Order: sequence, then C-alpha cells, then structure tokens
Amino acid sequence: LLQLYSPLNFLGMVYREIKQALTDMEKMFSLLAQNTEIQDAADAQTLKTQAATIRFDAVDFGYETNRQILRGVDFEVPAGKTVAVVGASGAGKSTLSRLLFRFYDVSSGRITINGVDLRALTQASLRAHIGIVPQDTVLFNDSIYYNIAYGNTGASRDEVIEAARSAHIYDFIQSLPDGFDTVVGERGLKLSGGEKQRVAIARTILKNPPILIFDEATSALDSKTEKAIQAELVTISANRTTLVIAHRLSTIVEADLILVMEGGRVIERGTHRELLDLNGQYARMWALQQQTSAEEPVV
Ligand code: ADP
Ligand code: MG
Repeated sequence: LLQLYSPLNFLGMVYREIKQALTDMEKMFSLLAQNTEIQDAADAQTLKTQAATIRFDAVDFGYETNRQILRGVDFEVPAGKTVAVVGASGAGKSTLSRLLFRFYDVSSGRITINGVDLRALTQASLRAHIGIVPQDTVLFNDSIYYNIAYGNTGASRDEVIEAARSAHIYDFIQSLPDGFDTVVGERGLKLSGGEKQRVAIARTILKNPPILIFDEATSALDSKTEKAIQAELVTISANRTTLVIAHRLSTIVEADLILVMEGGRVIERGTHRELLDLNGQYARMWALQQQTSAEEPVV
C-alpha cells in the first residue's frame, strides 16, 4: 500500500475519484505511473500560450535503456498547423504523443514549445495546454457528466451539453435511463470503445486546449460516425497546434505535413500530394488502402 501512496501525490485533483474507483485506479496507474520519474525542475517555468509551436529536435528515446525506440526524430508543428503521423503498428507513433505529454523524458535531443524545452516547464502547465484523445480512454467510475466536465471543471452545464453534441454522443446519453447522471466505468455502465472515444472527444472539446493530440482517435468508431466526428475534429483543430496519429489515411489528406514512421525513424515527410509523387512507402500504403474496403483499416 505504501508503494501506492507516492504516485497518488501526483494525481492532485483526481485523488478522490481514484480512491473511490479501485479498478479504474489500476488503469490510471498504468497510464500515470511513469510520472513518478518525472520531476519539475526547481526553476520550472509556467507555460502560457495560445499559439504553441512544437519542435522535436533529434529526439532519441527508449522505454528501456537497452532498447532504442525513437531514432533522430526531427519535425516541427508550427502554431495552428496540423501534422499527421502514419506508419505500421510499433513504429513509435504513440510514443511521440507520450513524450509530448511528458510521461517520459527523451534520452537525447529535445522537445520544445515556443523554443522552451519541455523539461524547463512545469508539468501541470504543460498538460493544461494539451488535449489528448488516446487510443484507449480511461473513464472514471462516476457520472458521464463528470467524465466530460473533467475536461474543464469550470464549465457550465450548457457547455458540457454542447461538447457532448459536438462529439456526437448527446443522443446516446439522452437514451440512457439516468441521462447525464448515468454512472459509467468499470463499476457502472460499460461503454463501447467508440462511446468511450466520443466521451474523450467531448472532454477535449470542453477543455479547449491550444495543443491537440489525436491518437487514432476515431479508430473504434463505425465508418458513418467516424465521418461525422472527423468533420468535427477538423473544425476543433483549426487554429490549434495538432498532432494526429492516423489509422486511415483518408482522414489526414488535408494535413499540413505528413510524417511516415518506420522503426522509430521518420522515413518520409511531405504533404499528401508530395508523398504520392514521391512514390515510396506512403504511396504504397495509400494504394493498399484504396483497394481495401473503406471499412477496413490496414495501418
Ligand atoms: P505505435 O503507436 O506506432 O504502434 P508505439 O509508440 O506504441 O507504436 O510503440 C513503439 C514501440 O515501443 C513498440 O515496439 C512497443 O512495443 C514499445 N513500447 C511501447 N510502450 C512501451 C512501454 N511502456 N514499455 C516498453 N516498450 C514499449
Ligand atoms: Mg499507437
């Protein structure tokens, strides 16, 4: 039990929910346990910006010292722009988002926001600027209202409802016996992967952060819902610095820059058009997805 205590210090405002939701706690730990190694610098600065330019400079990283995952990753996401990352499973795509959220520190190189190294920022201010829709959303054992409002505890009920509408989960919530008061999570109503994703999207819309990370954010949705939500994500990512890890290439055709990753390296980069003209890995993936049924993601 003692071992459980020190990570709890990091959870601040979610402490109460963590304690009441034992099953969810385990999941939160698997997500947040990494934090125990990350400490704020004594003179850490508070990030405060609405226009964040993100840079990865020659980033190397491994979860374990003897296994390097990222190798010399270099890219920039200018403020307000969208960069998409594609590549086979295991290429290191989600690792980029974990490093940007500072679940881990880079082994060498650096990640900066507006020129400031993430390691010189407070974790709290960094994370307040980032909204993530992850591959697997963790819900608290609490009402669905709480699970959305968690994105911005100062939001009004109307704003929570509006976020739910934008994430195409409002009608579903209304159909539940207790509506927004329905308890979800491990000990409440179990939501499907797609429903949980929509809760995470609503939470992020409500949080309204200057930096967005979508990690295959619509992968659990059926293709009709995906199309509707995709349009919504494009709207909310306008003028926000956005990193999209994409499953279906059709969803990132409009990105300002596309990175193709393989074995922890960026092997190709360019716009959709440029990468098709390059006629390399991206072009092959595109051709493959065109042949395959639109319902079946292949990356
Ligand atoms: P992608 O999102 O492109 O599928 P990831 O970034 O999740 O790939 O993973 C890249 C590599 O890092 C994989 O080989 C994966 O097994 C490894 N990896 C991911 N998370 C961890 C972890 N927590 N500990 C050790 N290895 C990990
Ligand atoms: Mg991934």
